[in-house]
Amino acid sequence: MKDRFPDFRLGSVLATSFTATLTERRGNAVERIPTPDRLIDWLAVNGLAVESCTAAQLERARELREAIHAAATAAAMREALPASAIRIINDCSIQGRAAAILTPEGKRQWRLGSASRVEDALGVIAADAIDIVSGERDGRLALCASPTCRAAFFDTSQSRTRKWCDMNTCGNRQKKARFMANKRRQPGPAA
Ligand SMILES: [Zn+2]
Repeated sequence: MKDRFPDFRLGSVLATSFTATLTERRGNAVERIPTPDRLIDWLAVNGLAVESCTAAQLERARELREAIHAAATAAAMREALPASAIRIINDCSIQGRAAAILTPEGKRQWRLGSASRVEDALGVIAADAIDIVSGERDGRLALCASPTCRAAFFDTSQSRTRKWCDMNTCGNRQKKARFMANKRRQPGPAA
């Protein structure tokens, strides 16, 4: 059944992985959490397992997602952050009641509230977004060079010169397009 839904594009940063549940925003957008069950799946993959999710909670999650996208885009462009995006991110952060847990192996885990609420998971994602937008974490927000993507991503490379989001498709697609264009321009010897 799950095969009917688009797969997840997971990056290394929680908040921007979350915004990547909607890809190709400037092209043929692909919604990767089309149902509450898919949000449950996405959260589980990202260490934020919840027991249930209502349609309203999915709506709220998408609202947070677009708020993070708007705030991260503005930050990447050195523009003022949209007030509505700030409000939604802050509301989600305040409403979440997750605790960071240190495992015996020295790893961080998130423990959500007793009912494993979606709101707690969104709170963790909102706090992660605050970290990267505020500059609290080492890295640089930038926009993907792909004109159909333009996703905000968090560049932690040494040189801070990454051009494409870390969804592993934009850069590859660009290279392929350039390769095909070159081939058309200079038809080589027949293979
Ligand atoms: Zn991209």
